[in-house]
Amino acid sequence: MPLISLIAPRGNLGAALVSSLQGAFGATGDALWLSPDEAAEFPVTQRPSNFDEVRKTVSGQHVDLNFVDDANRRKSLLIADMDMTMIGQECIDELAAEAGVGERVAEITVRAMNGELNFDDAVLERVDLLKDLEAAVIENVLNTRITLAPGGKTLVQTMKKHGAHTALVSGGFIQFAENVATQIGFDEAHANRLLIENGKLTGEVARPILGRDAKVEQLTRLSPDTSKAIAIGDGANDLGMIEKAGMGVATHAKPIVAEAAPYAINHGDLRGCLFLQGYSIADFT
Ligand SMILES: [Mg+2]
Repeated sequence: MPLISLIAPRGNLGAALVSSLQGAFGATGDALWLSPDEAAEFPVTQRPSNFDEVRKTVSGQHVDLNFVDDANRRKSLLIADMDMTMIGQECIDELAAEAGVGERVAEITVRAMNGELNFDDAVLERVDLLKDLEAAVIENVLNTRITLAPGGKTLVQTMKKHGAHTALVSGGFIQFAENVATQIGFDEAHANRLLIENGKLTGEVARPILGRDAKVEQLTRLSPDTSKAIAIGDGANDLGMIEKAGMGVATHAKPIVAEAAPYAINHGDLRGCLFLQGYSIADFT
């Protein structure tokens, strides 16, 4: 039976809201609390006709409402975007800030992530602006500017403990993705490679460029039965894998992505992707 899931930042989900939605949606059973004051769910017979409207209203109260298909609910593959998903930054913007071209690059990044620019062209245009930057800056940016997104380590470690495979698939750069994947515990990482000669960025990336289609290819390679996969991301280049995976989640995503994705976490941290799969806080690593 399908479920309605409610997830809020810790301590912010009230029993009154849960019970009023049980009434409004005609719940067919009791609410199950996966984490006190944070995540609850209840069964319904079908997607309520006013679901989208109610979802908008409760979003104003910082609660994420999702309609969950409970078939194959616990996924055996996690495929995740890196920039602004598993980390709190866009690596290319941080590199550009060090190179003194921060504003120009950030403006292109926003348009690319909103789907307004061709992804490959946007990568090439921005990397070209980084030409002659000392490669040692990468290490510096990793150490001083990059932060892991809250809940990401718990998401990866808990799924791995329950037998899932985990892959970081980034349209950003492998020079960052390998380090981030190791810190979080991903089984593998894929990304574009910044080319370096004589200790400096050449302003080029290795081809072919890993874009939207390459993320979908990684998903189908790792889980030919895509219903068994959860894909998460925030950008327009993540929408292919988000739409194809059994559970595609827009995480703190650009509006165009959040609206197109079957699932969205806008308020809670990445542990929300565990609640959507039916894990309770007692299962977390
Ligand atoms: Mg991203």
